[in-house]
Amino acid sequence: MDSSAFDLTPVQQDIRARARLFGEKWAPRAAEIDRADSAPIAEMVQHSVELGLAGLTIPTQYGGRGLTAIEFSLAVEEACRAMKSWMAGDILFATTCTGPSVIMISDNKAAHERYLPMIASGEKTAAIALSEPKHGSAVTDIETSAYLDGDELVINGEKRFITGAPDYDVYVTFVRLNGTPGMKGIGAVVIEKGTPGFTLGEGPEYMGSRGSSHGELYFKDCRIPASNLLLGEGSFPTLMQAFNMERLYIASMCLGLAQGAFDEAVAYSHEREQFGQPINEFQAVYHLIAEMWTQIESVRYLTYKAALTAANGKFPNALDVSVAKLHAADMARDVCWKAMQVLGGNGLVTGFPPERCFRDVIVSSIAGGTIQVLKNTIAAQLLGKRLNQRR
Ligand SMILES: Cc1cc2nc3c(=O)[nH]c(=O)nc-3n(C[C@H](O)[C@H](O)[C@H](O)COP(=O)(O)OP(=O)(O)OC[C@H]3O[C@@H](n4cnc5c(N)ncnc54)[C@H](O)[C@@H]3O)c2cc1C
Repeated sequence: MDSSAFDLTPVQQDIRARARLFGEKWAPRAAEIDRADSAPIAEMVQHSVELGLAGLTIPTQYGGRGLTAIEFSLAVEEACRAMKSWMAGDILFATTCTGPSVIMISDNKAAHERYLPMIASGEKTAAIALSEPKHGSAVTDIETSAYLDGDELVINGEKRFITGAPDYDVYVTFVRLNGTPGMKGIGAVVIEKGTPGFTLGEGPEYMGSRGSSHGELYFKDCRIPASNLLLGEGSFPTLMQAFNMERLYIASMCLGLAQGAFDEAVAYSHEREQFGQPINEFQAVYHLIAEMWTQIESVRYLTYKAALTAANGKFPNALDVSVAKLHAADMARDVCWKAMQVLGGNGLVTGFPPERCFRDVIVSSIAGGTIQVLKNTIAAQLLGKRLNQRR
């Protein structure tokens, strides 16, 4: 069943079809990737390049597709729906989402020229590094420092839970510049794997988002060219604007995973018979299908709306995208659980698609901003004032 209310352009239909091919190709390996907590990332990125799904929002002058947030959202939704795994979204994340967005929002043309072509071509994958051992939600407290020494920046500090580490190649990293305290001191730099003084560590094994690594970054007197500064002091609001792509990504992923779990539940409800009839002829199951579809459709509207608010097609509006992510993660958890119920005992078997989608969407409630922090963002926009979060 497809949503009929949206009149997609030929390009959007084409992107969606390509994303479906991508997800379908990897779907047979989803359970194995989940079980091993390891994925053939390079092979998957290469496949996304062949299908024209890399660098979706990167301008064509740098070898990207020059598309907008809505096409990215559609691609993530459809790839996750078809593969029924977070991993499908993560591959698109690596060449389009937050890392490339921070590079693009910077006015550092030399960084555009150096990094965007290699990311758009899939030659290099890009991670985004904000979180630190002591500072997760409190991004404005980060301690990883950068100071200028001649024509170099010297970086010291630690990051953790970084999606793609240690596998990805380019790390767009939030830093505190020149010791300036608070939000004002935060900027971003881009650092390449292999730079002396920069080492990578394995992260934890999560219940969901398996196959994708979430490792650690260590900087010890790591020297990078000063020209790798993407955004300087005072640019926190601009960085957060680019970060809204991450929220859109997670909303789109939850939408696709919920839809994937729903598809499984519908198919199973036709095949499975109890008491001599298909289970979807029991009104309780019949109604579960209606409830799931209604929930999915409500999030589809919110997610597409958020994508369409994107300034220049790139960075969605904070209020709309926070609402979409908050509701998407909540909806997807509930829809996946309903799908598991439709499958009965099979719904609880580890590695069956609804169970895998369930674990992935729970992780999505924390990654990219927790439920509570999203509510703070939403209320702050609505009331025009921020809570005093500091005692
Ligand atoms: C799968 C996964 C992938 C990730 N990928 C990345 C990545 O690529 N890059 C990156 O930088 N980070 C990444 N993260 C880290 C993620 O962004 C953080 O886990 C998240 O921001 C929460 O930070 P924390 O874990 O330190 O929790 P904390 O900030 O310590 O929060 C703990 C609890 O306190 C609550 N809380 C904290 N502050 C407030 C407040 N002001 N108001 C109300 N409640 C509050 C939180 O909601 C939460 O319930 C990833 C995490 C996961 C799980």
